Amino acid sequence: MTPSQHRSDGHDGEAPYPETLLVTGGRPSGAGAPLNVPITPASNFRTGDAAARAYSRDDATDGWEALESVIGALEGGPAVTFASGMAAVAAVIDLLPAGSRVVACNDAYAGTRALLEDGRAGGRWSARFIDTTDTASAVAAIADADLVWLESPSNPLLEVADLPALCAAGRAAGATVVVDNTFATPLLQRPLDLGAHVVVHSATKFMGGHSDLLLGAAIASTQELGERLRERRALAGATPGALEVFLTLRGIRTLAVRLERAQASAGELARRLAAHPAVVRVRYPGLPGDPGHGRASAQMRGFGAVLSFELANAAAADHVCETVRVVTSATSLGGVETTIERRAKLPGSEHVPPGLLRVSVGVEHVEDLWRDLDAAIGSATGR
Ligand SMILES: *Cc1c(COP(=O)(O)O)cnc(C)c1O
Repeated sequence: MTPSQHRSDGHDGEAPYPETLLVTGGRPSGAGAPLNVPITPASNFRTGDAAARAYSRDDATDGWEALESVIGALEGGPAVTFASGMAAVAAVIDLLPAGSRVVACNDAYAGTRALLEDGRAGGRWSARFIDTTDTASAVAAIADADLVWLESPSNPLLEVADLPALCAAGRAAGATVVVDNTFATPLLQRPLDLGAHVVVHSATKFMGGHSDLLLGAAIASTQELGERLRERRALAGATPGALEVFLTLRGIRTLAVRLERAQASAGELARRLAAHPAVVRVRYPGLPGDPGHGRASAQMRGFGAVLSFELANAAAADHVCETVRVVTSATSLGGVETTIERRAKLPGSEHVPPGLLRVSVGVEHVEDLWRDLDAAIGSATGR
């Protein structure tokens, strides 16, 4: 399935498709204008009237605004860019009054989980981590929350939460509902349409797409909430760098074609891995037998380019990481290059099976990827 098939986003035929917005959005206009927004390495601007920019931490640059217009159009709300995904996550969490009750998914990004646990230890808020794949018990756990933190598909278990049901439960409880949409990207899932108040992204991953920058974004469901996030950025100073903004805008132009290829290859690799005698389990919502398949089919336009598979033990999984040659043994995801990592070795990953390998599929030829993985698994397991 490609991002442009199976479209259930109510696209109205007049507005451009997201694939087009990625290319046309955030361009300077007018005769003689450059096609791309030039890099603006500016901290301050010459004094002018009240509307003129003075200082970029408060007043942004053309590059930030161009990138925010593209990301905002894709997700369907005002976007605010940050120095990293974690800076965006922290800005959203910083909106909480002291003593708030946070309910977050068990398999939240390890950095988000660490931040929530740090604030809990410091007495700033309470935090509970729940299994969001069990919709009924998750809805019950959300009933007294002030902030609901969701990630779907999750990292690295690829768990899929019923976003419409959990967003509705959060709204009914008067909570702010946040969805980390890094894995899906707005091409495959639009959480604001599913009921979220805020979407966060590590644009470091698929949006940038080339493993050469750190950048984050938060997208709000209302202008007022967007303004509060913009204010948090100015207060805490977690502003994106000029070069990073340029590179993210450059990278995002090809998001649709990169993702289409990577997703097709991820589906193919998931099917082949599932049939491999040494593989204990494959986690990929695109597989019909995956526990998240039904929910993903209902709320996503594709199943993404990240999968996890399990070998019998940590030693075999480590051996695969040491043996691959086309695939890169490295953390992170969403780049043009395929990366593999044994996630249980990271702090905060006690819930992850020891032999689990997360694969972020890139845009190489799928047969080269398969030959490489198959050979490494064979070398590790003798099968
Ligand atoms: C990487 C990641 C983050 C953090 O983003 P950085 O850009 O590394 O700060 C947050 N959420 C998810 C799902 C991620 O993969």
